[in-house]
Amino acid sequence: MLKRLGAQWSRHALSAKPAVVYPVAVCACLLIGWLLALGAAYLQDRADLQQRAVTIAHQLELQFAQANTALARIDAIAPGSNCELTSRLLAAVVQATPHARYALRTAPDGRVCTSDISRIDNPPAVAAGSTLILRSSQAGSPAFVLQHQGNGGSMLELGAVSLAALLQPGSTGVVAGVRMGSQYLAADGTVHAVDDAVGQGLSYQAATQDGLLEVVVRESWAEVVQHSVLRRLDTLLLAALAGVALGWALLRRQLARNSSSWEIAQGIRNREFFTHYQPIVTAEHGECIGVEVLARWRHPVQGAIRSDLFIPAAEDAGLIVPLTRYLIRRVSKEFKQVALPPGFLVGINIAAEHLGMPDLVEDCKILLAVLREKKAVLVLEVSERFPLPEHQVTHRVVQDLRQMGVKLALDDFGIGHADRNYLRRWGFDYLKVEKGYVSALGKDSFKANILDGLLQTSHQLGVQVIVKGVETQGQQNYLSVKGFQFLQGFYFGKPMTLNHFRQWLYSGITQDRVPSVAAMATGRSEATDR
Ligand code: C2E
Ligand code: CA
Repeated sequence: MLKRLGAQWSRHALSAKPAVVYPVAVCACLLIGWLLALGAAYLQDRADLQQRAVTIAHQLELQFAQANTALARIDAIAPGSNCELTSRLLAAVVQATPHARYALRTAPDGRVCTSDISRIDNPPAVAAGSTLILRSSQAGSPAFVLQHQGNGGSMLELGAVSLAALLQPGSTGVVAGVRMGSQYLAADGTVHAVDDAVGQGLSYQAATQDGLLEVVVRESWAEVVQHSVLRRLDTLLLAALAGVALGWALLRRQLARNSSSWEIAQGIRNREFFTHYQPIVTAEHGECIGVEVLARWRHPVQGAIRSDLFIPAAEDAGLIVPLTRYLIRRVSKEFKQVALPPGFLVGINIAAEHLGMPDLVEDCKILLAVLREKKAVLVLEVSERFPLPEHQVTHRVVQDLRQMGVKLALDDFGIGHADRNYLRRWGFDYLKVEKGYVSALGKDSFKANILDGLLQTSHQLGVQVIVKGVETQGQQNYLSVKGFQFLQGFYFGKPMTLNHFRQWLYSGITQDRVPSVAAMATGRSEATDR
């Protein structure tokens, strides 16, 4: 899926104007880089907040553990008949307990003794069984009140403001607080209703073990975003560099493509393309039974350009159809002057997309008219590399061509994924075996076995096999003995101009082809006259 999207994007990017490609690529990479930085900052901040919340909760647990120990000590003080001694004991407990500021002991008869004789609070109104409350404001500042009931009662007050010191944020933009029930103690020591106090943002909570308190650490979204930019400047820089590099690469490709497609179009107009012909022979006697037409380009400045470069470029630029059309017209003219043996095959390479165009039928008519006069047969070669589109139009085009006597060859057979169904569905007349199978003979027994098995399959399917890439007499002998009927390759003849081909054809038409062709293959390769 990702791969397909990537390919689509790249195709789209390449079809855009060069001026657009560059900034789009840079922006896309920056955006991706920033999203990565944001994601990394989010995860980092989340881990930091979690760590901070857990640490604060742990510290609170320690503080309250000390406070509870102090409360147990207060419980153990038996209030005497006068409070003076009790008050002194209570004051000692308060002094020894961090954050404690006040203690109170109630005798069973209701008498109240306090750690601070200048202040006598009423025992705080807590629900029975409740041991801790957060008092929002009494005697000027908020406090946590720990309380025991039974044998009178005991109470210890801890200053919430000093406890809130634990909540001071470690980094800017981080807010911490303690939630207790519906109340919330902020880092500045103020107490609010939870709903008013807790805002939006990335937050993490950690509860104390007794579950009474929950530490909330929060960072606003604005801060998270700011962190992603500030902390991840390195990532952003890398993303920007990647964007520049990608943009540059796309721009270069786009410019190269634009220039090559312009040149191909210009080349078709200026008739810079021409044709070479490569013989197809019988395996046994090397008798020529056909040719394959191969496109050649002589560029006005760069000279001869390899077809494995300009054919894919023409396919990419959407110019393969006009190029093929031009070649078909050219072949039609050229063949008017040549006498051919009856049943002679003329193979033309056709791009898969061209077979899906009804115009192809019209394009072929001109050539067919010429070939019919000579009782020759037109064979359209489609590569196995690109499967034929399973459209009704393509099937109709193939059917129309068949009715006109055109044959179909599956080229480069053995490199793609064509199975029996595919061969039957499209009704191929010839299979042209990919060159690699012949060059593998004697080196790769796996490929050699496949080649052997192919004959049997072809008989079952009623198709004829043409083996390409035959370069030596040994290969020819081997293939002939195995029972292959038709061969093509440098051993018999390299692609040549029509004049050379005509000489070659007429000089050997009645005699055993092999020796004379072998001489020709070494003596005259890829003749260059037009
Ligand atoms: P192809 O259809 O497989 O054409 C045969 C290629 O193999 C030709 O290369 C030919 O020169 C080469 N060849 C022939 N015999 C031998 C041999 O014994 N040994 C070796 N090593 N190579 C041999 P070429 O002319 O460079 O063509 C390359 C490909 O370009 C063709 O492969 C075909 O797919 C494509 N092509 C050429 N002309 C056209 C055209 O007019 N239209 C389309 N659509 N494709 C074309
Ligand atoms: Ca071919």
